[in-house]
Amino acid sequence: MSGLIDQLRAIVGEPYVITSDFAAYANDWRKKYFGKPLVVVKPGTPEEVAAIVRLCAATSTALVPQAGNTGLVGGGVPDESGTQVILNVSRMNRVLEVDLTNNTMTVEAGCILQNLQDTAAANNRLFPLSLAAEGSCEIGGNISTNAGGVQVLRYGNTRELVLGLEVVLPSGEIWSGLKGLRKDNTGYDLKHLFIGAEGTLGIVTKAVLKLFPMPSATQTAFVGLASPRKALELLNHMKAALGERITAFELISHFALDVLERFNPALRSPLGETHAWYVLTDIADSRDAAALAEDVEAALGSAMEADLIADAALAKNETEARRMWDLRETLPEAQSVDGRNIKHDVSLPISKIADFIDAADAALDAAYPGVRPVNFGHLGDGNLHYNITRPRDGFTEDEWMNNASEPVNRIVHDCVARFNGSISAEHGLGQLKREEIKRYKSEIELNVMRAIKNALDPKGIMNPGKVL
Ligand SMILES: Cc1cc2nc3c(=O)[nH]c(=O)nc-3n(C[C@H](O)[C@H](O)[C@H](O)COP(=O)(O)OP(=O)(O)OC[C@H]3O[C@@H](n4cnc5c(N)ncnc54)[C@H](O)[C@@H]3O)c2cc1C
Repeated sequence: MSGLIDQLRAIVGEPYVITSDFAAYANDWRKKYFGKPLVVVKPGTPEEVAAIVRLCAATSTALVPQAGNTGLVGGGVPDESGTQVILNVSRMNRVLEVDLTNNTMTVEAGCILQNLQDTAAANNRLFPLSLAAEGSCEIGGNISTNAGGVQVLRYGNTRELVLGLEVVLPSGEIWSGLKGLRKDNTGYDLKHLFIGAEGTLGIVTKAVLKLFPMPSATQTAFVGLASPRKALELLNHMKAALGERITAFELISHFALDVLERFNPALRSPLGETHAWYVLTDIADSRDAAALAEDVEAALGSAMEADLIADAALAKNETEARRMWDLRETLPEAQSVDGRNIKHDVSLPISKIADFIDAADAALDAAYPGVRPVNFGHLGDGNLHYNITRPRDGFTEDEWMNNASEPVNRIVHDCVARFNGSISAEHGLGQLKREEIKRYKSEIELNVMRAIKNALDPKGIMNPGKVL
């Protein structure tokens, strides 16, 4: 293998081939997967990526594409064989072009998401992809997971934000589809194959991304209400009153807020009283802030008169809005206050969310009395992070994770299937749900996916053991 490592050094240069101290690359954010790579290689250009892929194809060496390594399903982490090469794209981090007339920017795959948001803002444009990991996740990873986040309701998933891609194929050829076109009906739209493919079909090296007008005002509100059903009614009420201006609509359960307060007492609800559920929402438009606040206040006022909500706080400035969003964005980390829990990233028809929560809560409580769901998510997109914390008594943390994960997943995912949902809304399958998906996707669908994989990657070198 030292021959392979020497050849990698010859392609990218000595400093960019890492042969020890792998922790930052080999372990995932949740510390669930601890991989053992042969080597980490950090190319600086698509041509270097192509040369690495050709070398790996010639030597039948498995490659694990990686960007910011914030993925939550073990997709960017190698196995424990010590034979896989991590190809990390973080060095390719330049914004190549901002076209203000076409409203696009062309970027390299290793650009950190927050830097792209800042570049757009510096040009008085919005790049709307936004998630709690935005300070370290990179656009190549966002594209490869078809990331969602908090503004999908208005702007769509990453898939809707990508107009063109450049990809190094498993053959080592570079496919250049870097077109900034809104319309292009010339056969199969290849970029969509690679978006959400979790690195199993090729390595994304560049992308053309859509930009939007920068809203001039955003109003954030934190609402207390009685149930997810009321939250759904509120969503429809606000859509009727405010139209497309709602950019985020997040649901948070009382228990999730309780977890936050125990994690950090400074993270408190802005409302005086306790409520069973909360909604955090952003409404943005191009009018002035006072006019927008008036509209939002009127919409929430009529919601209160109609008994949809119990209380609401409107952020009076950016600091107050930031404090409200800190609650939501700290939740993924804060859950650890009660020990590890069994996580689910599920998608449902929006109209079925309340029914799903009732059914899944009841089924789990029947199987494990006293079980505590930390329930929050992007209600406006039908996406819940339905994470199950063990009952206060009866299980140690290890017992819960080792013995209950499978039966709990079965209960939750079967319930998702009953409501015609999906067991992965935005995080992907990676290695975490690779086996589980076989129960929920039809053989026809899996066979089509396998056929595509075999056609593009007949040697199976591209991120083996993930997705399929
Ligand atoms: C605190 C926190 C909050 C999060 N919130 C959200 C959220 O709201 N919504 C959401 O969707 N996700 C969320 N995530 C998950 C994660 O941030 C996203 O999946 C993100 O898109 C991953 O980007 P990354 O750069 O870290 O990719 P990585 O973790 O490095 O890789 C992810 C996958 O993409 C593949 N890949 C990476 N780069 C390339 C490339 N250039 N070409 C081909 N394949 C590649 C990898 O092999 C892997 O399968 C969150 C994660 C954390 C830690």
